[in-house]
Amino acid sequence: MERKSVVQPVIIKGIGLHRGNLIKLTIRPHNKGIIFVRKGLKIPVKPDNIVDTRLNTTLGLRGVSISTIEHLMSALFGLGITDCEVEVSGDEIPAMDGSALPFVEHIEQAGIISLESELSSIVIESSLNVRRGDSWIEASPGNFRVSYEIDFPEVAIGRQCLEYTGNGYVHEIAPARTFGRLTDVEKMRAQGLALGGGLHNAVVVDAEKVLNPEGLRFADEFVRHKVLDILGDLWTLGAPLEAEIRAYKANHELHIELAKMIQSEYLGSNSK
Ligand SMILES: [Zn+2]
Repeated sequence: MERKSVVQPVIIKGIGLHRGNLIKLTIRPHNKGIIFVRKGLKIPVKPDNIVDTRLNTTLGLRGVSISTIEHLMSALFGLGITDCEVEVSGDEIPAMDGSALPFVEHIEQAGIISLESELSSIVIESSLNVRRGDSWIEASPGNFRVSYEIDFPEVAIGRQCLEYTGNGYVHEIAPARTFGRLTDVEKMRAQGLALGGGLHNAVVVDAEKVLNPEGLRFADEFVRHKVLDILGDLWTLGAPLEAEIRAYKANHELHIELAKMIQSEYLGSNSK
């Protein structure tokens, strides 16, 4: 694929989901892959630099970490941005509205430029998979496509499937918001997390009810968000995948484990 970056610096400000602080993000033109910068430390995005996947995808190096990179990474994937430097003023990426759309809009507004060079795909030659309980994820040989299935006991979410083949990211995937169960939100708050979270940046579900007064953006917004997440998590590989990805009830932990397997199999563990 063609390598691309931003034309000029993009400045985005917003509140971090977990600690609720105001964070400033500056995305700058660059030509050496995707690199995050915090406290002057440059952290190249690659699966080996993902240090936590429990509630979000956290990038880290030498004790400096940046949480919740997945929605921004997904927006970069969706816009075909292969190279940029992302400087962050705090330890998490702003939550915005819980989707990737605000990042997409800011970046599109600033402009995207071709670097006039090519990035080769990672061609998956034999199947790789990760299983945990009844959750699994698999990459097998084939043209790029992502099939995702979720199945939640909450009636408001239930069973949803989606297949994404690389088209329509901006309208079909980017607007899908993150979601949580009311009980989980209450638990996180009790642990001092999700302090910046609310109905303005997440869909919150209580059994058969969606608590957001505006309702859903898509009838299957939940599985669309899971596709948004996996596209961002797999973009940590820094190259497009020629593979069929199938995921069932997966999460960041499984997405990143698969990315780490692909990295060690096809890129060598010390590669950028
Ligand atoms: Zn997400």
